[in-house]
Amino acid sequence: MNYSEIAKPKTKEMQVAPNLLGEGDLTSKTPWPEIERELGVDGRDSFNLAQLAIDRHCENGWGDKVALLWEGKDGGEEAYTFEQLRTLTNKFAHALAGLGVQKGDRVFIFAGRVPELYVSVFGTLKLGAIIGPLFSAFGPDPVRDRLLDSGAEVLITTPDLKARLSTILKDLPQLRHTILIEREVKAAELDQGDVRYEQAMAAAPSDPPDTTTSREDYSIMHYTSGTTGKPKGAVHVHNAAIQHYATGKWALDLHPDDIYWCTADPGWVTGTSYGMSAPWLNGVTQLIYESGFGASAWYSAIQKHRVTVWYTAPTAIRMLMKAGDEITQKYNLSSLRHICSVGEPLNPEAVLWGHRVFHQAIHDNWWQTETGAILIANYPFMAVRPGSMGKPIPGTTPGIIDEAGNEMPHDAEGDLAVRPGWPSMFRAYWNNEALYRSRFNNGWYITGDRARKDKDGYFWFVGRTDDVINTAGHLVGPFEVESAFMEHPAVAEAGVIGKPDPLAMEVVKAFVALKGNYEPTDNLRRELMRFIRSRLSAAVAPREIEFLPSLPKTRSGKIMRRLLKAKELGLPLGDTSTLEED
Ligand code: ATP
Ligand code: MG
Repeated sequence: MNYSEIAKPKTKEMQVAPNLLGEGDLTSKTPWPEIERELGVDGRDSFNLAQLAIDRHCENGWGDKVALLWEGKDGGEEAYTFEQLRTLTNKFAHALAGLGVQKGDRVFIFAGRVPELYVSVFGTLKLGAIIGPLFSAFGPDPVRDRLLDSGAEVLITTPDLKARLSTILKDLPQLRHTILIEREVKAAELDQGDVRYEQAMAAAPSDPPDTTTSREDYSIMHYTSGTTGKPKGAVHVHNAAIQHYATGKWALDLHPDDIYWCTADPGWVTGTSYGMSAPWLNGVTQLIYESGFGASAWYSAIQKHRVTVWYTAPTAIRMLMKAGDEITQKYNLSSLRHICSVGEPLNPEAVLWGHRVFHQAIHDNWWQTETGAILIANYPFMAVRPGSMGKPIPGTTPGIIDEAGNEMPHDAEGDLAVRPGWPSMFRAYWNNEALYRSRFNNGWYITGDRARKDKDGYFWFVGRTDDVINTAGHLVGPFEVESAFMEHPAVAEAGVIGKPDPLAMEVVKAFVALKGNYEPTDNLRRELMRFIRSRLSAAVAPREIEFLPSLPKTRSGKIMRRLLKAKELGLPLGDTSTLEED
């Protein structure tokens, strides 16, 4: 399917001039020296991500600016300036040091989106320890697996979440201390090694800790989403700050006056790279919204806080689409200047919907836990081709390669790969050197995604390598078929798999969840078949359609096609630690 391009915005109609003005700005092969000068790290081997994101602004006269604007579950609000965050993170670093934590130790955090979480993350970084954020909706087993694998020595959590872990804490011999944030719930009693957050903070000095970190010191480790298999612990370094800053500026188009909102949870990489690091490196005020998804609640938050730049994900956008267009008119959303999405392919229908209700394209961008930061993006200055992930970040080299690691011609489908050396590249899979090495071939890092690049340099996602379907000699990317389903008014979401077939090798099977006011009837199934055949060639169209109330997703909101497939074939489900439970 071809969707018409959303024209380039006219510069004079834009509220502010974008940070990148045109194609010419994308072609610079060496933007990093200038970015390093802007950040004040040129020629320096030692710097610290937390110091750059927080303290630097205090030294440059922005100490009184609000960095963190928090709206709690009960509607209560708190605001923290860069200066307040500087003091609090210094104190937290001292509190950790007081517990014997040293550079390189793993400190994990299992908490909801409360201000203390942000203080803990940056305080840990200031001390040079490695922070590992865990999604707060995890059950005990995924937490145990990650704490064991990483050898975490400290866990920061809340009394109620600690209670959830009661069965597994005894299985963690390396865990020495638990720091309890008692904002909502007070701990009835303390176990050995438990520390109260407030007490530790009150006793800690507020001067900067005496540590230096080098560019290459480990900073954050994130377990991947587990969409394709067992989650892997991707390890990042302080040097990533350079690309967090640059992509915040180029792809998210952050300007000093912005109110920015990233909806991702800090348990996933988007929630740290772009829900902490990028906005603060750019000196921007960011909204932290404690509650989960709700269409009215989200629109109301945008209206109330006058959010200007909004970074969200396809699943959330599909849920907003499901809630309908009308509700968008009940709110004043005119503050929104730039909307971005990441995490899954963004169906063209979603881009067009955004254009209709928000009067602007939703800008898809591509990256993954391992890349640490955005690598391909739709920029505010350019025409958006719905369904495309956009063009490479200046100074990075994504490409489409064949199995031998050679670049392929325009429009050919191949492995999406990246030339190593981008600043935020992961440096290891924790405890898994062999897997790390296996991701490189012929001077490329292999991402595990399939894509193509058109003659104008736009990248198009095809599917995960594992999800691509081979039907009668045709390679079918699930995204294309799912996007065709999304065009039908009855469809809320669709997931497509290859089902083994004696003749065709595989046939395409689609799982479809309907919008609330549609019934899963045979008539609708036949109508959907006809609808898809009118859009896709017969070879690619699904042979079977099954209706489901909703599709299995990871807790970060990605459709788990491997689970649809395992269930279909009656095979073991594999690692389900990140499966979202209804
Ligand atoms: P795992 O590696 O454990 O299977 P995961 O790959 O889902 O999980 P993440 O690192 O959170 O873990 O997700 C990155 C992946 O998400 C990308 O490799 C890609 O498959 C998908 N993705 C992210 N952004 C986009 C996008 N804009 N378009 C298409 N796919 C995207
Ligand atoms: Mg992955």
